[in-house]
Amino acid sequence: MTVLSNGFLKALTEIPGGPGDEGAVRDLIARTLYPHVQDLSVDTMGNLVVVKRGHGNSGPKLVVSAHMDEVVLFVTDIDEAGFLHVATSGVVNPRTMLGKAVRVGPERLPGVICHGPVHHIKASQRGTMPAVEDLVVDIGAQDGQTAKAKVKIGHRLIFQTPFRLMGTDQTIAEDAPLPKQGRMSGKAFDNRLGCAILTELLVGDPLDFDLIGVFTVQEELGLRGALAASHHVQADVVIVLEGTVCDDLPGPSGEQRYPTTRLGDGPALTQRDRRYIVHPQLLQYLLRIASDHDIPYQFKQPNIGGTDAAGFAHFRGIPVGIISVPCRYIHGPTAVADLSDFHHVLALLRAALPGLVNVPGVRHQH
Ligand SMILES: [Zn+2]
Repeated sequence: MTVLSNGFLKALTEIPGGPGDEGAVRDLIARTLYPHVQDLSVDTMGNLVVVKRGHGNSGPKLVVSAHMDEVVLFVTDIDEAGFLHVATSGVVNPRTMLGKAVRVGPERLPGVICHGPVHHIKASQRGTMPAVEDLVVDIGAQDGQTAKAKVKIGHRLIFQTPFRLMGTDQTIAEDAPLPKQGRMSGKAFDNRLGCAILTELLVGDPLDFDLIGVFTVQEELGLRGALAASHHVQADVVIVLEGTVCDDLPGPSGEQRYPTTRLGDGPALTQRDRRYIVHPQLLQYLLRIASDHDIPYQFKQPNIGGTDAAGFAHFRGIPVGIISVPCRYIHGPTAVADLSDFHHVLALLRAALPGLVNVPGVRHQH
């Protein structure tokens, strides 16, 4: 059984799910998992907690987690000319946003992010980028009154980006399995790719012991869902799945560069980020499993970004590991990822889970 079709990735990445508004993502995941798991529950913040029963052996309380939310914009003002003024929910790079198509509010109204015609930009401003608060969104309204009839302050704007398999212009059937090689583009790869891998894991064969999947909310606003979930889930060990920064791009010639990660070099393993130092024995274990199974891996450049790992470790300082799919251009409208990296993250996870019970420092509470 697999859920990894072209259509599942398309659905999972194209649906809206800004911080605090993850319901559509959660529903799709819950509907997909329902026939394959023993318990599904949603906590007061909106985290989805899924239990896949094992063969009955007692073991550590093992959690694999992925955040459901994506970076979005929201409306802060509607001016007399009918343009929407915006702010971001999560960090978004304004360089990536000019001219992009968005969907606005619950009615999903089409909009375009604009910033004045090039003819009106002074020569001195041409090399600079606008701040997010200077961007406006055109929804085709003739005036403010028309816009205000449709859009309210606080409505969210979601990037309108189709999921695509790259390297072909052929239409691929929705039920076609996700290819093992090649590259894909779409929105919300941070972190719907993690959600897709966790969903696939939970529809698969049971382990000897219970596996708990936690799909968190509001990671992009400071790990808020994970912090709340950590206390009621009470894990012994957590693996956090992520879509992470990849900047393996050409820079100025002659400049020596150390990309955060590289596309196609395999799962990115975090040693430390700005919020968390990965449990050393757990990291050593993941490295050993990768080499035992011939699964490529790379280290993510340290001290970049933060993940739900810090949120889960808040509970008793439990060990947490972080495995990521490198994604170019995340925190913008369109990302690009490598399919072999994606499948290798799943392979590494499957290979690593059964032996997590024996990793020193993983405590049995049950
Ligand atoms: Zn993320």
